This record gives sequence, structure tokens and C-alpha cells, in this order.
Amino acid sequence: MESTKYVYSFKEGDGKNKKLLGGKGANLCEMTQIGLPVPPGFVITTETCLAYLDQKKGKEGLQPEVAEEIRNAMAQLEKETGKGFGDPANPLLVSVRSGAAMSMPGMMDTILNLGLNDETVAGFIRLTNDERFVYDLYRRLIQLFGTVTFHMKDEDFNHIFNGLKKEQGVREDVELDAGSLKAACDRFLDLFKEKTGAPFPQDPYVQLNLAVESVFKSWMGKRAVDYRKEFKITKEMANGTAVNICTMVYGNMGNDSATGVAFTRDPATGENRFFGEYMINAQGEDVVAGIRTPKPIRELRKDMPNVYPELEKLRHTLEDHYREVQDLEFTIEKDKLYCLQTRNAKMNAAAFIKTSVDMVNEGLISEVEALLRIQPDMLEQLLHPRLDPDAKAEVLAHGLPASPGAASGKMVFDADRAESKAKLGEKVILVREETKPDDIHGFFAAQGILTSRGGKTSHAAVVARSMGKPCVSGCEAIVINDLNREAVISGVTLREGDMITIDGTTGNVYMDKVPTIEPEFVEDLLVLLEWADEISELQVMANADTPEAVSKAKKYGAVGIGLCRTERMFNQPERLPVVQEMILADTPKEREAALDRLLPFQKEDFKEIFRLMDGDPVTIRLLDPPIHEFLPSAEELSDEIDKLGELKQTVEGMAVLPDTLKMLDPELHDRYTVNLDVIIKGLEELKAKHLAGPMIESKEIMLKKVKSLAEINPMLGHRGVRLGITYPEIYAMQIRAILEAAAEHIREGGRVSPEIMIPQVCTLEELKWVHRYVTRINGDVEKKYQIKIPYKFGTMVEVVRACMRAGRIAELAEFISFGTNDLTQATFSFSREDAENKFLPLYEERGILQHNPFDVLDIKGVGRLMRITMEWARKTRPDLKVGICGEQGGHPESIRFCHHIKMTYVSCSPPRVPIARLAAAHAKLREKEFVLD
Ligand code: ADP
Ligand code: MG
Ligand code: MG
Repeated sequence: MESTKYVYSFKEGDGKNKKLLGGKGANLCEMTQIGLPVPPGFVITTETCLAYLDQKKGKEGLQPEVAEEIRNAMAQLEKETGKGFGDPANPLLVSVRSGAAMSMPGMMDTILNLGLNDETVAGFIRLTNDERFVYDLYRRLIQLFGTVTFHMKDEDFNHIFNGLKKEQGVREDVELDAGSLKAACDRFLDLFKEKTGAPFPQDPYVQLNLAVESVFKSWMGKRAVDYRKEFKITKEMANGTAVNICTMVYGNMGNDSATGVAFTRDPATGENRFFGEYMINAQGEDVVAGIRTPKPIRELRKDMPNVYPELEKLRHTLEDHYREVQDLEFTIEKDKLYCLQTRNAKMNAAAFIKTSVDMVNEGLISEVEALLRIQPDMLEQLLHPRLDPDAKAEVLAHGLPASPGAASGKMVFDADRAESKAKLGEKVILVREETKPDDIHGFFAAQGILTSRGGKTSHAAVVARSMGKPCVSGCEAIVINDLNREAVISGVTLREGDMITIDGTTGNVYMDKVPTIEPEFVEDLLVLLEWADEISELQVMANADTPEAVSKAKKYGAVGIGLCRTERMFNQPERLPVVQEMILADTPKEREAALDRLLPFQKEDFKEIFRLMDGDPVTIRLLDPPIHEFLPSAEELSDEIDKLGELKQTVEGMAVLPDTLKMLDPELHDRYTVNLDVIIKGLEELKAKHLAGPMIESKEIMLKKVKSLAEINPMLGHRGVRLGITYPEIYAMQIRAILEAAAEHIREGGRVSPEIMIPQVCTLEELKWVHRYVTRINGDVEKKYQIKIPYKFGTMVEVVRACMRAGRIAELAEFISFGTNDLTQATFSFSREDAENKFLPLYEERGILQHNPFDVLDIKGVGRLMRITMEWARKTRPDLKVGICGEQGGHPESIRFCHHIKMTYVSCSPPRVPIARLAAAHAKLREKEFVLD
């Protein structure tokens, strides 16, 4: 068997192999090999860590073969540095640093100045003639070694140290003299013995091996395990930690020494300027730990004019080499610069975008590299206001993240109140148990919506998303009492007018106003997305129902509308009564009369959308939801009828009141008669206007209708094309509105590509039925306008049977669009709202399902069905246009899959369009890495 190599010197390790050497180790090797001033050292591999952790229980200590390789590497290091490990004459000191393949800031530990003991301390003092410096190193070693390897408490050390400072009457560490630091060492050594039961190890190899072991063990420590879980770091991403042994360099050797951290560009804005902080006469973590206030890097130019140019040079060398913004650690020892670490900088989306475009312009990276360095999901940050990450706020309750973005406002409990307050210029959050079409004006008025019931496809969620307003739905911790205009959340009673903040990106609800950061659609992003479009094969369209949403989609760069739902157009306040009339109609004739009044509305909507999209495809879905959704609920109606009945009785009672009063007490009657008359007259008017027969009667009729339309399972009930076939007038009106709008737009000199999409189809026969209306009406319209209309006819695929019959369906359908919300419900037999409210979170937590399939396309199940569908459909019609219009169409992983199966387009909500454009380019650029199944 090939013998395993456990240790790699910085001079030989492969800088690309982060899995084996860890990120820190690989970069230390790489920097050494390109000639940067890295102190000599070596890496112990992650595999060694795994082997160590795998050892049989009860077997203590480092594996002997590992210990031996470390000894050899140390001997090598001694040769290279001319120092000796444990040699008092010229002691070699090292740091022992952890570092896994993925950076896990602050999760695992580092020990500095290892190799000091009573003898080497004495020797080092003789050598440097600097007692203060050496005791400063020693006290750090004892504390770090004690806390990292023996889990002693930092507080205990700090307590002693701060006590000393107080005794000396100083505030800063650097003000302590040699004597005090020596005293600190003595007391630390006592503390060590007291807490661990043994004296501080004097043998440097004992120190070294224990330190290495404790770094290995820290990989499975609770802190690190939790961190990996929280940030979803899998074994494939990082498995085990490497240990880096690095010769010490000293930033605490006086005022010509320093330590610091820097970014090659400003990580907050992306600006190309050196950014960082340093501290004179300090070591290691002092900068980060906030021991003293560090100075901004530009001051180093004055403080150390000899070294600063070196540092600038390092900055450029690192960027030129890594071609990525770097986050580096450096130390200056007596005017000599050393680089101790570099890694790709973590930045916010704005900085990523700016640096991407800048670095292309500077010729540092290619456009492709610029695109690939930005994770599509990151763009989300730029598209909605978000909570200021620096703001500290306590979460009051948690609901579903239904529509991203954050908003603050005063609570209001109904839409009218929202509207009236908004008119006064107040910012409000609409808080409801759930919302209905009647609430729509409240949506327009509110900054955001919070509901206590309903999932991510509830009315509130869908409408909020389409408007790009933040929404938290299904926040069951909130008990709303809208009569009293108050809500109880986790024991706190909030009243109308109280300020709250909701974060639709996380689902969190906060008390009071939490500061937010506004989104900006920066110029650089536009540039970047144009590069993306040149690469991608998938087109990106948007789901948009209203002209406002369509213009947003256009602004975000959608090349068409992949889904325009027509029901939203019915929900507007001036139209809803006509829609209800249409539904309540007893005869087709009456229904047509109502529809005739709706036609102009629909036509205007479509014309406006055609005008905005000017020739780009607009896919219009004919009416889909069960029509009872446009009527009030049965309970609501019964309630109203009861109330009206009571009111009627009261009014009638009032009418006889004067006579009764006269009979009982004539004097009282005389006194009140004038006022009573006024009231009664008012009430009579009210009665004549509202209570005389028709009002109650019409409500009763409606109630009857509502009851007759009620369905046990509306999701699987009378909706979509089923509705279109049973009430042909409805679809006929919509088809006419589309085609006439198209004709009129063409006549006005515009271009159009309308696509008529039929929902819920399960057999070709249904399509044929509707297709007949379409050809007939198109004939009419073309004759009327004397214009040829270039329309397409197709269907949404969201029923499993339609997938299985795709070959036939494609005979008539010129395009299909996967409605992956319903298709996912149908494939899993999950109703989405019940699933998301009841068991999906647990399924995800237990790993039964990896993701919520309504957020991330279920490639293995639903995706496979889609592949089969496309295969059969394109056998019939090879050039069939295929898209996806479920929400998953805006999710990068799902987009990757859609690219892979050669879909024509994805369609998602307007704000996700930029994300999808970038993801589509990534999908193309990384297509070789994609493995299916
Ligand atoms: P972290 O991953 O927490 O940053 P590091 O291993 O990078 O931990 O080390 C912590 C601090 O100690 C850093 O400031 C680093 O620059 C410093 N440091 C590490 N090794 C040495 C060394 N050999 N000489 C001087 N300073 C060092
Ligand atoms: Mg570091
Ligand atoms: Mg559907």
C-alpha cells in the first residue's frame, strides 16, 4: 500500500488542493511558491485529522507515524530558519493554526508562540535583550494554550490581566512594563497548574502534539458542528480541518512592528481602494479583538513609510494572482513585511457587482469570470429593502417568508383603514387573519402585509409578491381581534397604530421600526446582466398580471411575459361587482350581458400590456380559479343577512316608538318628539335605500349561489378549462378581449405576440374544444379589423395526465408551460398550504425531503415527469416552445435543470428576473458539471 503523506511544507503543497490542505494552508503554500513573504511552515492534512478522529476509542495521542512526520518537518523548519525548537540560544517559535476547506470564522482555534518554556524564555531574553517583548509572548502562549487545549476560561486569565493593569494604573496592554508582564506569566502558570492539575508543559514537542490534537478535536466540537449545520456545510464541501504550523513573526517587537488585516478593495462598496486596519506593536488577534482601536490602513503610509510601498505591492500581487478581491492578514516585524493569510473576500452583492465590472474593465478577469464569481441568489439583496444588518432587534414572532423585503409601518386591521391612513401619508402594515380580493385597496396602501393564516400561495402571499411588497403569512403566533383593533403576539398586546416591522425574506416580525436599507438597481448590474444574456440559452420571462408589474418586468429585463393571470384583472374594486353579477346570472344571456361589460376592461388591460411589451411574447392564461373565489364566503353572507334582518326590525321598532312613548309618558314624548322625528326620518331613508327587500334578497340569492358553488376540494374541482367548457361565454369573452386588443394595437402601429394559454388541461379533447372558440373568434376579429393576428395557442401543463398525454396535446398546443406549483401538488399529492403549514418544515428538518419542493423544483420526481413530457411532446412537435411558470422558475438550481433539459424559457416574478438571468448564464457556463439523477 502506498504510504500516506501527512505533512506538506509550504514550499511543496498544492495551492489548489483546499480539500486536503484547507483554505488557509493551500493559500499559504500558494503564496510561498509565488515568492510572497510567508514565514516558513508546513500543513498537516485534513485527512490526518479524519484519521485521528477515526482512531479507536481509548487510544490517546497523535498517531505515532504522524508525530514522526511532524518531527521531521520541524527539523526541516529548524534548518530553514537557523533556529532550534526548544533551543534557548535561538528559539524557534511557531503558531498552530486550524483551517478547513471552507472558512469558518472564529470556529476553531489558533495558538501563537508555541515553543516557549522557562528555559527558552530566558534564552530569548538574552538574545533579544527585550524582557518585555518575551514575557508578552509567553503570557499569550499560556493563555491560548490553556484555553484551546485544556478548555480553561478566558475570563480567568483576563481577570488576572486586568487586575494587573489596574494595579499599575494603566489602560492599554502596551503600557504594561516587563515586570508586570512577567508577573502575568507567573500568575498564569499558577492558574494553569491549579485548573489542569499539572504544570505548564515544558517540552516543546509535548506542547506541539497536544496543540495539534486539540485542533483536530475542535472539528467535532459543538461550536464547529453547529456552525456547519447552520451554514449547511456538507462533508463534500469541507471534511476535517488541516493544521498549519507556521514560524512566528513578531508584530510586537516595538514601534517598528505591527499587525493588521486588509482588503484589496473596499468590501462594503467594492471601490478600488485599499481598505484595512493595523495596530503598532501588537500581535495576532489584537486587531480583531478590539484591545485597542486600530488605525485605518492609509495612516501606515506615514507611520511606516519604508514598509507601506511593500504592502501596496503585496496588495496588487495578490489580486493579480488570485484575480479576486483578497482579505489578507499581515505582520510587520522590525520594518519587514510578512503575509500570514489570504482568502477571497466576503462582500455584499453591491460590492461583488462593482468589483466584477471594474475587474473586467481593468483587464484582470474575463466577462465569464466576472459572472461566475457572483452567486445569483445574492442579487436578492439588491432588489428589496432589507433590514439593516447592523440593527439589533428582537424577533417577536415568526411566520412564512411569503414575499421578500422588509417594511415597517403602523398596524391596521382592515383595508379601508389602511387606505384612509395611507392617504394621510402614514406608513401602514395591513394585518389580517387572511386577505380576500376585497382587500386589494389595502394592499396598494400598505407597506407590507402580515397574516395569521395561509401559506405561501395564499391570496396575501400571491398578491403581495406580484406587487413586490413584503409579506409574512401564516404567522400563527398572532391572535387578531379586528373588532377591538388589536392583536396579541407572543403575549404582547399590540393596538392599531402600533409600529411593527415585518421581514418577508425571513418571515420574522419585530416590534417597532427596525431600520432598513433601500434597494438600488445599479448601472453595473445592468452591464453584468447584459453579459449574462449573451451567454445564456434559456430566455427569462416574467409572471406579471398588471401593467405596473409588466413595466417592472420590462425594467428588470424580462424578454416576455410567461404568465399573465387574468383573474387578478377581475378583482379590482370597480370590476368585482360586475364579475359577481356574471357569476350570479341565471341564464347565459344574462351572463353575456355582464361579460359584455367586462370585455372593455380586459381589452384595455391587454392593450396596455401589449403596448409595454411591444412585440415580445405575452402569455395570457384564461380564467383558472373556481368562480366562487370571487364571491364572499357563506359565513360572511349569513352573518350580513342576520345583521340586516336585525337592523330592519330595529328600524321598524323605532317607527312605533313615538306612539308607544306618548301612551306611556306624554310629557317625555313632547320633550323628545323633535329629535325622535329626525332620527326616525333618517332611519326610514336608510330602510328605503338599503333594507327594502332587494338588499337582503340579493344577499340571500348570493348565499344560495355560494352554497351551490361550494366544493369539497376546490383545488381539484370546478376550475380551469373545466370552467371554460361549462361556461363557454367566459372564455369567449377573454379570447375576444385578447384578440381585439391585439388587433387594435397592430392598427395603432404596434407589434404583438399574444399567446393564449389554457389552464388545467388533462386531455387533448379539452384543448380542441377551446381551440374551436379561438378559431371562430379569431375569424370574427380578423374580419372586423381586417388584420391578421399572429397569436399562439397552447396550454399550461400542471396535471399529471397531461404529462402522460403530452404527445397528443402537442398536436394542437404550439407551446406548453409547466405550472410547477400545481404540478408539484399533483405529483406529491400534497396540498401546498396544508403541507407548508403542517408537516413540510418537519420533513425538511428531519431530512425526509431536502427542500420544500414548492420553492426548489423537485428534480427527481417532478423534474423527471417534465423530462418525459418534453420528450413525448417534442416527438410530435420538435420546435415546441416549452417554459416553466411556477415560482421555482426563479430559483437558480431549478433554472440549471431547466437549461439542462433544453427548455425554451423560465418565467418568474419580476424582482427575480435579474437573478434568473444570471442563473441562466451560470447554467450554460457550468453545464459540464451538471449531473442528472
Ligand atoms: P483565524 O483563522 O482565526 O484568523 P489565524 O490562524 O489566522 O486564525 O491566526 C490568528 C491570528 O494570529 C491572525 O491575526 C494571524 O495573522 C496571527 N498569526 C498566526 N500565525 C502567526 C505567525 N506565525 N506569526 C505571527 N502572527 C501569526
Ligand atoms: Mg486568520
Ligand atoms: Mg395552476
